[in-house]
Amino acid sequence: MKSYLPYSLCLGLCLAILLPHRLTGWGFFAHTLIHHQAVYSLPPEMLVLYKPYQEFLTDHAIDADRRKFVYPAEAPRHYFDADLYDAHQWPCSWTEAQQRWPKNILDKNGILPWNTMQVYYQLVNAFRACDGQQILKLSADLGHYIADACVPLHASSNYDGQLTGQKGTHALWETYIPERLSPQFKLWVGKATFLPQPDATLWQLIRESAQAADTVLRVRRLLDAQFPRKLKRTYYLKNHKWIRGYSTAYLEAYEQAMHHMVERRMRLSISMVANFWYTAWVNAGQPDLHKCLNVHFNQADSLEWQRLQHIEWKERSEIISPFKE
Ligand SMILES: [Zn+2]
Repeated sequence: MKSYLPYSLCLGLCLAILLPHRLTGWGFFAHTLIHHQAVYSLPPEMLVLYKPYQEFLTDHAIDADRRKFVYPAEAPRHYFDADLYDAHQWPCSWTEAQQRWPKNILDKNGILPWNTMQVYYQLVNAFRACDGQQILKLSADLGHYIADACVPLHASSNYDGQLTGQKGTHALWETYIPERLSPQFKLWVGKATFLPQPDATLWQLIRESAQAADTVLRVRRLLDAQFPRKLKRTYYLKNHKWIRGYSTAYLEAYEQAMHHMVERRMRLSISMVANFWYTAWVNAGQPDLHKCLNVHFNQADSLEWQRLQHIEWKERSEIISPFKE
């Protein structure tokens, strides 16, 4: 079977560098890698459907980010500025959240956990209906949002270090380190496990991410104070071109100083994506996925994906900027 991964990884590598923070989750490269790996943690009963469509799940891991170019309502689904919400008031249901905060506040501070649970319940229903198309599309979206929930800077209003004079930390953490160091990461996370309370698990992920955001920024500040400035950047070969960017030594020093946080959160993302897919299937009654294999995406799906890719391409060419920091 031909693999989508090289295409997806290539696309990810290009886009991750070019898009400003709130347009990306994990970098696109990392999202595709997370979905690709998560499939390997599923039980044989699920691999019946997920293995033949591993390429689809990998390629469409970034659909949710692509939609941000088209639908303004999509952007707040990818983050939750925990420090801007009163922590005593969450977790809470989406209904309670809508009663507690006006729409403009929810849009500004982000709605990641609430939206993610809605997509999770939609996936449970898709399994119950044995709707192969919906199972795959919703699995791709659910995986994306779960992975975003594992990123510390997606749970903080200081999402790029912009409030503390550390702009660029977001891309450094979620894009440059995964791109350059992930070949060294151990990404096999074991078998998917059932989540008795998926909503509680998701809020716990958010809580941990919010707490880790401070470490991400503090460690970088300490590192920058002692790492030799002239060794911070270098030229490296990428796609047959020499590019100026962070040196491998700097990336490794940062990852090591964070006690390998990027690797740990990437492993957590892979594990949680698989767990949520698995839990949705179990809670739907473990349907026989052999019966859901008749997957035919309709013309509307194809047109939507073409449209997203077209707009993404156009947007991308308009926001290209050289590496600088
Ligand atoms: Zn995202």
